[in-house]
Amino acid sequence: MYASRELSPNRPAFRIDLRSDTVTKPTAGMISAMAMATVGDDVLGDDPTVSELELRVANAAGKAAAAFFPSGTQSNLAGIMAHCERGDEYIVGNQAHTYRFEGGGAAVLGSVQPQPIDNREDGTLPVEKIIASIKPDDFHFAKTKLITLENTIGGRPLELDYILEVEKIARSRDLVFHLDGARAWNAMVANDQTLSDLCRPFDSASLCFSKGLGAPMGSVLVGTEAFIERARRVRKMLGGGLRQSGYLAAACLYALEHNISRLADDHRLASELAEGLRGALSTRVEYSGTNMLFVHGSERLQMRDLAEFLRHSGIGVVSGPTLRLVCHLGISSDDVGAVVEAARAFSRTAP
Ligand SMILES: *Cc1c(COP(=O)(O)O)cnc(C)c1O
Repeated sequence: MYASRELSPNRPAFRIDLRSDTVTKPTAGMISAMAMATVGDDVLGDDPTVSELELRVANAAGKAAAAFFPSGTQSNLAGIMAHCERGDEYIVGNQAHTYRFEGGGAAVLGSVQPQPIDNREDGTLPVEKIIASIKPDDFHFAKTKLITLENTIGGRPLELDYILEVEKIARSRDLVFHLDGARAWNAMVANDQTLSDLCRPFDSASLCFSKGLGAPMGSVLVGTEAFIERARRVRKMLGGGLRQSGYLAAACLYALEHNISRLADDHRLASELAEGLRGALSTRVEYSGTNMLFVHGSERLQMRDLAEFLRHSGIGVVSGPTLRLVCHLGISSDDVGAVVEAARAFSRTAP
């Protein structure tokens, strides 16, 4: 008759929300930066705040040009479509966002065929499998055009040596190399790199502001001038040409200024939470190295039951065979203590 409580729009907000780092809301400082933004019609190229954001992100990433997008899904899709023609193919992890979680957009809207490769536990794609999946130049096959990696993936930062190894394949086979860097800033902070070091091996990158950076929305695509020109045409076609979007770009500029170095706090809290839950639940808890952790279930310890118990204690989590918990700027050290306490209480109820 009515939607379940879980789906109801009237569901009260969780006291502690660990479902994702996308749940953050703009802080007072961010809202005031948004309210004071100077704006114009960005489709006409008139919005100075959007232009400033694009310039700053291009510079930080060490690329020639950038374009602001409403979402990371659209920015990845425009990137793939700006690199590829109909009938081309992109190599991608089977766990990658651009393959699994973007509605198949590259195939549906771009006529670009994915060639998925199983991600290893650590998020990497085995290089021999990448090489084996590159198609010969033969009219039977789609044309392999692009390799895409995700960093961080499942919260895990990729090793620079690994990225360079894949870059070598891309260069030697004349393929384009794209980074889905939705959480590239987390990787940057965890590896103590600069953004331009992290983006250097890639021809293009998509960077999100609506994850750990705490902006309400927005992603920036970076690459060469010619590539960004093509991506702007695709963006318009996909409905992503926005007018006074400087209000949103102002939130992203604020995030660049205030919310990057603090990502280290999220990482520390995630690591402490992993440690605490390991003790409370006596089960395998994997810390990703950035702001995520994964609690593994067993016969004895069903994650569905734990998730249900936590939700009843006002702690938001997404259930599955493993429980993914994500720290972000809405999570404090006290919250971590409270979650560990709730997990202990759950353990006491278990047989
Ligand atoms: C969130 C995310 C995106 C983009 O998602 P949007 O919700 O469309 O902004 C892309 N890639 C990864 C890895 C992500 O986590």
